[in-house]
Amino acid sequence: MNHQKLHPSLWSDTATPRIPVNQLNSHISADVVIIGAGITGSRAALELAKQGLNVVVLESQEPGWGASGRTGGQVNPLAHDTPEKICSYLGEKAGMGVVNAYVNSADEVFSLVKKYDINCDAEQNGWLRTAHCNRSVKKLELMATAWRKVGLDISYVQGNELHRLMGTKTYNTATLTPKGGSVQPLSYTRGLCSAAISLGARVFGHSSVDRIERRDSRWKVTTKSGSVDTKWVVFCTNGYTDSVLKGLNKTIVPLVSLQSATAPLPEEIYNEILPSGYTYADTRRVIFYGRKVKDKRIVFGTLGVSSDCKKTSDVKRLYNGLAETFPQLKGIELTHKWGGQIAHTPDVLPHLHEPQPGILAGLGYNGRGVAMGTVMGRIMAERILGKSAEDLEIPVTNYSNAFLRHFSDTAVKLAVPTFEIMDALERRFT
Ligand SMILES: Cc1cc2nc3c(=O)[nH]c(=O)nc-3n(C[C@H](O)[C@H](O)[C@H](O)COP(=O)(O)OP(=O)(O)OC[C@H]3O[C@@H](n4cnc5c(N)ncnc54)[C@H](O)[C@@H]3O)c2cc1C
Repeated sequence: MNHQKLHPSLWSDTATPRIPVNQLNSHISADVVIIGAGITGSRAALELAKQGLNVVVLESQEPGWGASGRTGGQVNPLAHDTPEKICSYLGEKAGMGVVNAYVNSADEVFSLVKKYDINCDAEQNGWLRTAHCNRSVKKLELMATAWRKVGLDISYVQGNELHRLMGTKTYNTATLTPKGGSVQPLSYTRGLCSAAISLGARVFGHSSVDRIERRDSRWKVTTKSGSVDTKWVVFCTNGYTDSVLKGLNKTIVPLVSLQSATAPLPEEIYNEILPSGYTYADTRRVIFYGRKVKDKRIVFGTLGVSSDCKKTSDVKRLYNGLAETFPQLKGIELTHKWGGQIAHTPDVLPHLHEPQPGILAGLGYNGRGVAMGTVMGRIMAERILGKSAEDLEIPVTNYSNAFLRHFSDTAVKLAVPTFEIMDALERRFT
């Protein structure tokens, strides 16, 4: 991977200072090498360094360069399916571990922020999931009933009350999850990474891992300019997973998620939109999601096809989606537009793999990795610190290849416009 600058975004303009990192230029040894310095890798590094392990993090670019520094920053403690469905995939014990991990995930993020005093505009005001069509109203009903049964605080908001809470009449039904919230995601990632460094982790940037090789009972991890001899290697590469670990990239489909920020809004309009500070995301396949940020802007996102958000169709999708959701913002300038790669999995669940002794990989958050990447990093650290695979909240599973990976990148890109048509038909006819 070539060295790339941090993606320009509202977050890169407003984040806490970047973490100065050197390239790995020597041959060193460690207990654990973590590949990727996003939320997942930084959380794992933090937990392992806290227990006194010798931790090295290798990042192709700089901490937060991947999706973690570009996300909407929404902290959403809910899976895409019901607990029953999750248990039908994973079995009762493992399934309920995952369900509980979701239920507690937002609290885990906000208590970490507090514990390590991470300066990242964290707000736990609640999250609205809005129905874009009648069929989705039924799905929300099913989800709310099922998740309430397993202990998630989730309720309904409808009609005028929802219109007031959204500042728009676009949606008539939503679920409200009060534990949800938001962070400035680049500051959050940098905060986790700085905490890991202060506990002794060594973080190297511009150090793309080219290969890993088994050496007796250890591993040799090699970059262009150095190497690390280690007992454990942990892949935290999510939507940026390459072919270093054979087969891992076939388990996910990297989809592009887009973000934009409006110019600062007139006071009156800013106060009218999402007045209680809720975040929101709707039920479209080509999701619309957004929130307010403190300098009087609205941040709005959807799916797209170009990670740099340079394609006209992507820019149009952002302007049209924003105006459809908040008609009062029609014609407002989007001063920042950016994108990045998320990892979609066939069962829409995150996965933890241990394909060989000493290798772990945690990925596949399906667009909800701010909370679940934070959880996954901790769980991988627990495995390394001696917890048996059977006792982990997220079970160790075998690779399961993603169907869309059989097709070319162009075919994958066609998925977004196709889903968009399906969303529109559903909105019109159900
Ligand atoms: C635009 C956008 C909006 C999103 N909005 C939300 C949201 O509101 N809420 C939510 O929960 N989730 C959201 N997501 C998803 C969320 O950001 C991700 O799930 C999460 O950040 C994944 O974190 P991670 O640490 O696992 O991976 P990443 O942050 O993607 O980090 C992976 C890192 O691995 C590095 N890497 C890859 N290969 C190598 C190698 N060979 N050697 C060294 N380093 C390597 C990459 O450089 C990268 O920095 C969004 C994503 C995007 C792109």
